[in-house]
Amino acid sequence: MGKVTGFLEFDRREMDYRPVKERLGDYKQVVQIASKELIETQASRCMDCGIPFCNDGCPLGNVIPDWNDLTYRGKWKDASARLHSTNNFPEFTGTVCPAPCEAACVLGINAPAVTIKNIELSIAFRGWEEGFIEPVMPTQQTGKKVAVVGSGPAGMAAAQQLCRAGYEVTLFEKNQKAGGLMRYGIPDFKCEKELVDRRVQQMIEEGVTFKTGVAVGVDFSVEDLKRDFDAVLLACGSEKPRDLPVEGRNLDGIHFAMDFLPQQNKRVSGEAFEEKELLATGKKVVVIGGGDTGSDCIGTSLRQGATSVTSLELMPAAPEGYTEQNRHASTPWPGWPKMPRSSSSHKEGGTIEYQVMTTRFEGEGGKVKRLYVKRVEFGAPDHLGRPSMKEVAGSGFVIEADLVLLAMGFVHPVHEGLVSDMKLVLDARGNVQANTNQFETSQPGVFAAGDVRRGQSLVVWALWEGREAARAIDIYLMGDKATLQSRDSYI
Ligand SMILES: Cc1cc2nc3c(=O)[nH]c(=O)nc-3n(C[C@H](O)[C@H](O)[C@H](O)COP(=O)(O)OP(=O)(O)OC[C@H]3O[C@@H](n4cnc5c(N)ncnc54)[C@H](O)[C@@H]3O)c2cc1C
Ligand code: SF4
Repeated sequence: MGKVTGFLEFDRREMDYRPVKERLGDYKQVVQIASKELIETQASRCMDCGIPFCNDGCPLGNVIPDWNDLTYRGKWKDASARLHSTNNFPEFTGTVCPAPCEAACVLGINAPAVTIKNIELSIAFRGWEEGFIEPVMPTQQTGKKVAVVGSGPAGMAAAQQLCRAGYEVTLFEKNQKAGGLMRYGIPDFKCEKELVDRRVQQMIEEGVTFKTGVAVGVDFSVEDLKRDFDAVLLACGSEKPRDLPVEGRNLDGIHFAMDFLPQQNKRVSGEAFEEKELLATGKKVVVIGGGDTGSDCIGTSLRQGATSVTSLELMPAAPEGYTEQNRHASTPWPGWPKMPRSSSSHKEGGTIEYQVMTTRFEGEGGKVKRLYVKRVEFGAPDHLGRPSMKEVAGSGFVIEADLVLLAMGFVHPVHEGLVSDMKLVLDARGNVQANTNQFETSQPGVFAAGDVRRGQSLVVWALWEGREAARAIDIYLMGDKATLQSRDSYI
């Protein structure tokens, strides 16, 4: 344990964010890395409580009390090694993870939780700055080849694990650059792309071959894939967006969020794109959907100079007044608490309308001009536990809009092409079917990990899936000689 009385002496202090006025003028990361001293003090608040629920709350099983203690003692290099034993890319999670670990922190029962996510980010940040993070070269070669399709966090984590275990790994990516949604979905103000670039470089130095600009199933056939590799891992994400098929949907100016966000990320990095340019500049923007994607659309629209940004959310606002210490009865500790949450983008401007449903779009000259919306209310759950929803009579109103961004999530992976060419069995939700032990699909030697398997989720889950699927492939190809470990063996 770090400082025995740390949690009694020091209050929780999170990293600061750059002032709103300043950050709206650029796309640089909004969070500011705190000083070494502040982070060491914050790490000393960890009680090393004996049964660290944070460790279980983290999908990766990050060994949080260990690296909190090492950080408090100033042993940053050791903290970095311990953190990397369970997480290939802690700066990814340190910037974008919702931190379920903090919701499960034992200190959080009666005091503000340890700032675990900030400490994780600092360890990774210092690791790069001080040169602790280096390529890890394989110590043996298996003589076997693995193809990974998709270079999001799941594919990158799996490829790095397999390469370090001695496989010849080729990572195929249809986009021009690697990183998946870390590169093209999540804006730079949440995670600057240099963080992805240096990990790609690290992997290249370790021996992973990146083939970008290659869509498997189009530029590289499924037959070639099966012939040239001993195993294939599909990590191609959940890219089919949820649509809103109401009257007027085909008007100009109504776009999926993922037609809008990648363009800005490409602009920031100087990457050219062929699609028609979409900009919020001088427009009344309406974002439909309130998750991470919706909030990224808000932050991006505000930076582009939208005249107004209105966000529409179907679900009710979380009840006011609830915090990690004062939890809603339905979400007791150590689960994820129901409480009002706002992203950095929500604090930058715009308005949010809760419990509204869009019933139709109306336009002029083929271009969207307004949305007709109604309030909804939720009643008792049905026999499947789903809350019943009904329109509130007479609650309709109109919202003016020149640009509508649909950010209502993703239904499942794209089936056309790779998934159907491989004749893969799908689960009830349309994701590629594979369990979380073998990760093998209905096709022998073909595995699946990340959003393509579990459906749209989080970066931290994608990393876990990539690591565990790599282990499953190692066992499939090497049997008793497999060297990769599962999450539980590190803890
Ligand atoms: C806008 C947005 C914001 C988000 N914000 C957050 C956040 O703040 N925090 C968080 O935890 N999660 C966030 N998420 C979710 C998170 O990004 C995903 O859960 C995660 O990236 C999934 O990782 P993945 O590797 O499974 O798939 P992806 O990251 O989707 O990567 C899949 C890759 O496969 C490639 N691919 C697909 N088909 C082929 C093919 N045939 N050939 C070659 N390549 C192919 C794709 O081009 C893509 O690069 C966000 C998602 C979006 C859309
Ligand atoms: S990956 Fe997420 S859940 Fe795990 S320690 Fe980091 S912030 Fe917490």
